[in-house]
Amino acid sequence: MKIGIARDERFKQHLTGHFHPEHPRRLDAIHRMLDRKFAKAGDRLAAYAATPAPVEVVERIHSPEHIRRILKTSEQRISHLAPDTPVCSQSYMAAWLAVGACLQGIDTLMADACQAFFALIRPPGHHALENRAGGFCIFNNIAIAARYAICRYRLRRILVVDWDVHHGNGIQRLFYADPRVLYISTHDLMLYPYSGQAAETGVAWGDGYTINAPIERAMTDTDILWLYRSILEPVIYNYRPELILVAAGFDAHEADPLGRSRWTEAAYAGITRMILNASAGIGSPPVFLALEGGYTPGALASCIHSVLLEFLQQDSALADLRPEHEETATLAAQLRKMHSNYGLME
Ligand SMILES: [Zn+2]
Repeated sequence: MKIGIARDERFKQHLTGHFHPEHPRRLDAIHRMLDRKFAKAGDRLAAYAATPAPVEVVERIHSPEHIRRILKTSEQRISHLAPDTPVCSQSYMAAWLAVGACLQGIDTLMADACQAFFALIRPPGHHALENRAGGFCIFNNIAIAARYAICRYRLRRILVVDWDVHHGNGIQRLFYADPRVLYISTHDLMLYPYSGQAAETGVAWGDGYTINAPIERAMTDTDILWLYRSILEPVIYNYRPELILVAAGFDAHEADPLGRSRWTEAAYAGITRMILNASAGIGSPPVFLALEGGYTPGALASCIHSVLLEFLQQDSALADLRPEHEETATLAAQLRKMHSNYGLME
C-alpha cells in the first residue's frame, strides 16, 4: 500500500499567538516524527507540497462573503474571525493551501497513485460553516473535499469518520440533507460546539445518514474500539462507500489538555485497522485523512505515527473486544435502535 502525505512548511505561517493551543509547534512535532520514523519508508510514503485551492471549489461550500472576510485578514497583522479563532496576515494563505492539499489528496487517490492520503494541515476545518469560521477552523477542509469528490468524480457514497473529540458541526450541517455523504462522529457533548446528540440523524433525503455517538470521558480504548466495531463496521458493509474521509483529530488522547478523555495511540491505530479490514470486504475504497485537533505535540505526533504504521503494515486482525463500561454497550444499543429504520447498522 502506498500512502501520500501533504507536508508543507507554509501551514506553519498561520500564527495564533503563543498561548493558543492550535499553534505551529504541532506540525513541528509531526515533521520531526516523520523524519525520524519514516526515513526508510522509501516511496511507500510520498510527500506532496500543497497548491492553493481554486476559488470556485471553495465557493461550493462557503459563501462569497465568508471568503472575502478571510482574504481581508491579510491586511492586518493580527485579527479574530471568532473569539477563539485568531489569525495573522498569512493565515488566509495557510487556510487556502490546506484546502488545496485536500483536493490534491483526492486527485492522488482517484488517480490511484496512492491508496491512502493524510493531509497534515492546519488550520483545521470541521467546525467551519458556510458563512462562519470558529473553533480554530477557517475553511471546512473535509466538507470541501467531499463536495469536490462528488462534483469532479461523480461519487455517490462518501463516508466521513470524525474521531476528533469535538463534534464536527460544520460537516454535519453542510451534508445534513444529503445521503451522498454519510457522517459518523464520536465526540464529547460537554465540549465545544455542544452539538451532536444521538437523535440528530439527518433530514429529508439525508435522514439516517448522520450518526452521532456521544462518548463518555471514562471510556477506554477497548470501549471505543468495541463501539466503532458495533457501528462503523456494519455501516461500511451496508453503505459501501466509494471513498472514506477521516476528520482525524487526536484530542481524545489521554495527554490532551482540551479533550479530557482516555484514548491512547492504540485507539486510533485500531480504528484505522478496522476501516482497512472492513473496507477490504467491499473492494478497498481509498482512504483520505485530514488533520483536525490534537494539542499536545508529542502525543499528536505519536498518534499519527501509529496510524501511518497501520497503512504501511500488512493486514492484521483485531483482537476480540468487550466493552469495559456499561455506558458503551448502552450507547451502541441506543444507536442501533435509533437507526433501525435505515438499515445501515444491521
Ligand atoms: Zn477537536
